[in-house]
Amino acid sequence: MIDELLFPTKNICSFCKDYDDDLELGLCKECRDRIEELHQPIKADIENIDKVYVSIYYNRFIKNFIHQFKFNNSSYLYKTFALYMIKTIEIQEIFDYDIILPVPLHRRKEAIRGYNQSYLLAKEIAKLNNKPISNNVLIKRKWTKEQNKLNVFERRLNLKSSFFVKNNDMIYNKKILLIDDIITTGMTLEYCSKELKENGADKIISICLSTPKI
Ligand SMILES: [Zn+2]
Repeated sequence: MIDELLFPTKNICSFCKDYDDDLELGLCKECRDRIEELHQPIKADIENIDKVYVSIYYNRFIKNFIHQFKFNNSSYLYKTFALYMIKTIEIQEIFDYDIILPVPLHRRKEAIRGYNQSYLLAKEIAKLNNKPISNNVLIKRKWTKEQNKLNVFERRLNLKSSFFVKNNDMIYNKKILLIDDIITTGMTLEYCSKELKENGADKIISICLSTPKI
């Protein structure tokens, strides 16, 4: 029933587009088998964040689909990816939070891309878990280069003072679930959480869709 609601093209795998009678999480068995699931907290060691959970590994198979999701206008993939993140929430019983916030994109970048992929994930998670979400608290004010094209020093410079918080009454004394698509160095989450804490957030946890295998 829920699959029918989520995937209007019934029995078509979101990734390979093959017909399959036995779809789970929107995918055929062959595609599911190539996903390396994690659903665990990782050692991120980010100041201000209590725990960072990751749903799947960023392996060679998934890389292609995450790239499509971010850059090739395949926004519909959020449904499948959000279901993997919901699985993490259920396995780890992550229910003790007040509001979901996505890691923001600069509004110009969002306009060009047509969507913020982390917001799509966050919105789906909020809907399925019946939790409040806001896209209007954490804001990216600086236009920055794609982090993956930079070294560690450049990444830090790139992110410095690039986030700010508005409507901080919405997060005052609140427990926050911060949503992002990929965690590599953790620097984006570090800068976001610093702003959130300075603006009165009580506690921050995060779920990221994927992380590279070290
Ligand atoms: Zn498939």
